[in-house]
Amino acid sequence: MPGETGHHSVGVGSLLTILRDGQARTRGELVQLTGLARSTVSQRLDALMHHRWVVATEDAISSGGRPAAAFAFNESVRVVLSADLGATHARLAVIDLGMTVLVERAVELPIDQGPEATLGWLVTAFQDLLEQAGRDLAQVCGAGVGLPGPVEHTTGQPVNPPIMPGWDGFPVPAWLGERIGAPVLVDNDVNIMALGEHWAARPEVDHMIFIKIGTGIGCGIISDRRLHRGARGAAGDVGHIRLASSDVLCRCGNVGCVEAVAGGAAMAATLRAEGVDARGSRDVVALMRAGDTRAAQLIRQAGREIGGVMASIVNFFNPSAIVLGGDIAEAGEHVLAGVREVIYSRSLPLATQHLSIRASELGDRAGVIGAAVMVVEHVLAPDTIDRTVAG
Ligand SMILES: [Zn+2]
Repeated sequence: MPGETGHHSVGVGSLLTILRDGQARTRGELVQLTGLARSTVSQRLDALMHHRWVVATEDAISSGGRPAAAFAFNESVRVVLSADLGATHARLAVIDLGMTVLVERAVELPIDQGPEATLGWLVTAFQDLLEQAGRDLAQVCGAGVGLPGPVEHTTGQPVNPPIMPGWDGFPVPAWLGERIGAPVLVDNDVNIMALGEHWAARPEVDHMIFIKIGTGIGCGIISDRRLHRGARGAAGDVGHIRLASSDVLCRCGNVGCVEAVAGGAAMAATLRAEGVDARGSRDVVALMRAGDTRAAQLIRQAGREIGGVMASIVNFFNPSAIVLGGDIAEAGEHVLAGVREVIYSRSLPLATQHLSIRASELGDRAGVIGAAVMVVEHVLAPDTIDRTVAG
């Protein structure tokens, strides 16, 4: 059929992608949007309705006279379980396919109690949350988990995570998947924060760097609207880029890493050495807020050191947005000012012309939202839907 040239790729999954923009469409509109024959559109809609991904509604607005049948994405048909596990805290949520948060909970959960204790607790907590949301395990289409350490993306296994004893190589997706009966995707906390922030605040941004400044420093890279993980999942580990001006020993064994100077743990250690009671990054920000000039000075200097590293990254990657997250980013302008100052003075003009540098809008919720984005994008990817419908 001449009219269909170039549109053979609009399969069942791609048709669903069109409907995911939240607008109900009539058959006629879908024929126009896809270039497919009316009968093909009808067949694909039937398949999507059979799996309840799509529901028929009545479109009274565009029809004028008699309401025409319209079709809409059925975003509440299934739910995603989401968990952002930190060193000592966790945030969990049940989220539907339209990214509406049905229930959300923040808890104290020490990750160093090992994988089976932590994940076993998580299974029970997920069941409680599902019950609260009036849903059950049969409606779960996947779970997303963020971990505070390096994760090999293809297997979902932590790799030598420094603050997670017992987790090295643990098969998180298989262990958890067996108990909840749905696929489980795992990534490091910074990557899921980048996904969450990109989804919530900047969906129109093609190239974004999300930098987390907490105890340590790391970044998540959005390239062409997709998370760039690198060959093994280690992309974005900028905390160990060397500062020429420093010879401070880092926990990784090298000297001069930016994290060993500008990370929250490093700043807290500096304050402790000067007789101030600061256990970690949150204390550093609390001191600054209470008017402590030394803490404010350290945070500003950290912003400049991080800005120096980011200036090179801006030249290399040319992002349109840099978003700061993590505990230290809560210091707002105190840290942003230093980052901006150095990036604007050291990066190339073409790279900084339309560059936005700002704090995270989701704050400590970026991870739990991002873990759900990771699952929804996987479950609703055109390929996945095509396979589900074919199978
Ligand atoms: Zn290091």
